[in-house]
Amino acid sequence: SLTTGFSMRRRGRGTDHMTSILSAPWLVPTDGSFSREAFSNRPPAGAPDDKACKKRLKQEVKQLDELQRRLYADDRKSLLLVFQAMDAAGKDSTIRAVLRGVNPAGCQVSSFKQPSKEELDHDYLWRSVKRLPERGRIGVFNRSYYEEVLVVRVHPEYLGGQRLDLPDNMEAFWQARYRAIADHERHLAENGTVILKFWLNVSKEEQKQRFLSRLNEPEKHWKFSSGDLEERKLWDAYMDAYQQALAPTSKPWAPWYAIPADNKPYMRWQVARIVRKTLEGLDSQYPGVSSDDLAHFQAMRDQLNGE
Ligand code: ATP
Ligand code: MG
Repeated sequence: SLTTGFSMRRRGRGTDHMTSILSAPWLVPTDGSFSREAFSNRPPAGAPDDKACKKRLKQEVKQLDELQRRLYADDRKSLLLVFQAMDAAGKDSTIRAVLRGVNPAGCQVSSFKQPSKEELDHDYLWRSVKRLPERGRIGVFNRSYYEEVLVVRVHPEYLGGQRLDLPDNMEAFWQARYRAIADHERHLAENGTVILKFWLNVSKEEQKQRFLSRLNEPEKHWKFSSGDLEERKLWDAYMDAYQQALAPTSKPWAPWYAIPADNKPYMRWQVARIVRKTLEGLDSQYPGVSSDDLAHFQAMRDQLNGE
């Protein structure tokens, strides 16, 4: 019909399409008041045990499958999931656990490592813009442009590769990056991308235990690199970078969640729950058909049955 594809459809709960469903308790405040110390690495007292968390995760994953089908059929919004964390916090396994039930055709996972020469020859958002999810799809960023204010803030010498004119006042430089990232995400949200960002908040002690098991268990050896220990020495600088970066970039249209990451079953369940709630809030619908079309369906049914 004439209107298909051109109508500005209004749907969903509330009128502010820019605001996601904000889900307590791991939401990083969207007013800039984030304090890392207020967020735990451990599940809260009274949280379900591992077995119960796994069961709940399973239930969430089942719902995600159906919600993703509707997102795809509806074809209005895309969902971007950003994961940031210290090494061994469990990014990969969380992505696997949360998205395992979703149709692989509707989901794109991108991992961002040290930038290539070609990437360094562009602005720092370029490489991830190319990987943004199309309408109807879920895009997952395993690390992201946030590395530009995390690892690069801890190692400002990496900026050399970008050949920028750096100001004397580096604090202003970082503040400008936070603003640019927030502006970028606002632009995406205004154009149909729903953004959720997860910081898997692992403790320094738990990271040590996980590194030790990577060193001790042969099938985990491949996960270990000696550089990981060098970065671990900079733990406090990283925590400060997370504090500085998350506070100004958690927004109603692109919230950060600081997920306790010392317990994996709990962490995975919480991520799945937030993704599911957000998708539910979009109220995606299978496209309907007009009564004219429906009448045509009957004619086609008759034709097929009459063969
Ligand atoms: P794994 O869990 O398997 O170790 P990983 O995400 O840590 O996965 P690695 O290849 O070990 O993958 O590390 C990627 C490295 O690339 C990280 O240390 C990360 O900080 C770094 N990196 C990512 N983006 C940038 C960037 N824009 N500038 C500099 N370094 C970056
Ligand atoms: Mg690594």
